[in-house]
Amino acid sequence: MTADTGSLNSQGLAAREYAKGIAFVGENFKPAAEATVSVFDHSFLYGDGAFESIVFRHGRFFAFDAHIDRLVDSCRYIKLDLPVDKAQLLDIAHELVKRNNLQHGFLRIVVSRGEGYPLSDPRKTHAPLIVATVQGQPPNKKTAGGVRLIIASTRRTSPESLDPRAKLNNYGNHIMAKLEAIGAGVDDAVMLDRNANVAELPGCNIFTVSRGIVSTPGAGNILLGITRETVLRIVRDGTIQGVASVHEGALSPLDLYAADEIFVTGTGTGVAFVSEIDGRKVGSGQVGPITGQVMAAYDRLIEHGDNAGA
Ligand code: PMP
Repeated sequence: MTADTGSLNSQGLAAREYAKGIAFVGENFKPAAEATVSVFDHSFLYGDGAFESIVFRHGRFFAFDAHIDRLVDSCRYIKLDLPVDKAQLLDIAHELVKRNNLQHGFLRIVVSRGEGYPLSDPRKTHAPLIVATVQGQPPNKKTAGGVRLIIASTRRTSPESLDPRAKLNNYGNHIMAKLEAIGAGVDDAVMLDRNANVAELPGCNIFTVSRGIVSTPGAGNILLGITRETVLRIVRDGTIQGVASVHEGALSPLDLYAADEIFVTGTGTGVAFVSEIDGRKVGSGQVGPITGQVMAAYDRLIEHGDNAGA
């Protein structure tokens, strides 16, 4: 089972770098390699739960409150009673970072409906389960030369099915879009919404810059990323040179193909520039002038923290 068969899930499993250290499961801290979740857990069986990823630098979490507010909203949306409050989650998070002896990294909190009879009926479960893990590095930091994208045929979940603002544990269509990118030999994929406008990537929001106008898809068909909000604040605060205006609203594939600059945003990725989309070079194929300033400003914010108390 561990031989390299060339299958999708054969990479990097031997070292299990991600499983070193300590995890929090239920009510206990345990070695991550030994931490387990029930085979009857409803997030495992049905994706019935919610999650967050939060970046920390120098032991300080970035935008902890905003992430936990989103987690609370996601849980309320699916009628899952979060068994801890924000202060308790912060205690768990700090303790986890301390026990893992990490200064910089990423915290992941997963909330599951919990263990129960294997039927997709939430009343069959006993009690919600909280799992938290930390990683020192993001899993996919090979974007130095720019991110190469395709537009996927897989669409973003429409709000009639599930509100995309909820960050839930089922990413089936995101994985389908990612498979399209892998098949095309590029880094990632843009999912369109049900009206064929641009929505987002499987794990990132997307921005364009055209003649100084910074644009990003508006609320409705996307996860309202916390990095997206932070970048909107940065481009609106008047410190980025060359920004004519900022626009949240519909973007079409043509807007991507014609853009001077494109960048993507997310907790794991930070701000990364896009060098190519559907075989078209974006600008010069290098970091554009506005994207470069946004990347630097975002890094400064993460480094020095807002929400420093958290
Ligand atoms: N969109 C999707 C679908 C995501 O899963 C994520 C985060 N993983 C993002 C956008 C970015 O959100 P944030 O900036 O809050 O990490």
